[in-house]
Amino acid sequence: MSTYKFIEERIKERERWALRRQLGIPNDRRLWVLACMDERLPVEEVLGLKPGDAHVFRNAGGLVTGDAIRSAVLSIHFFGTKEIIILNHTECGMMSATTDFVVRELLNKVDVKPEDLDIEPGIPELGKFPNKEVFGKWFRMFDEVDLITQEQIRILREHPLIPDDVVINGYIYEVETGFLRKPFQRLSYKVNTSKDMGART
Ligand SMILES: [Zn+2]
Repeated sequence: MSTYKFIEERIKERERWALRRQLGIPNDRRLWVLACMDERLPVEEVLGLKPGDAHVFRNAGGLVTGDAIRSAVLSIHFFGTKEIIILNHTECGMMSATTDFVVRELLNKVDVKPEDLDIEPGIPELGKFPNKEVFGKWFRMFDEVDLITQEQIRILREHPLIPDDVVINGYIYEVETGFLRKPFQRLSYKVNTSKDMGART
């Protein structure tokens, strides 16, 4: 191939890459990922993702918050996404403290009342936190990673803005082993006991 043809092909490829949204080209796996922000969770590595493969949304806990819904809905309805993967992980920081503790410690550090805070600062019309209890719920602390993963799948599955034909799965990344598993399917139980403790799904 002539060098100029090689160069022009690369320029075209870059144009297709840069103009993907304008051209209506979805990400390569048509995939939206919801994952915890934790630095021990190597999302791209465990899902085998290359640049261009997926939209990846990360927050504290890998939870279906309002902004997660907003991002998933845009990805699905306007950017061609057909599949959702939720990734939670063992030893998540969201299990390391109670809601009461988080609210108490935070309000000790900052000079502000929940009732004076906008729930969504970019949209003041959505109002302020009605009280300290609701402010606490907003942090979404949880106690059990398997349960919380199932719960996130359910919330997305039942959400009116997520079409039924979108495939939704959730997995737990074990920081102690480096492997993924399905909720409640802990191989470590099966190999260490004669009881079937993995059959809670
Ligand atoms: Zn986490």
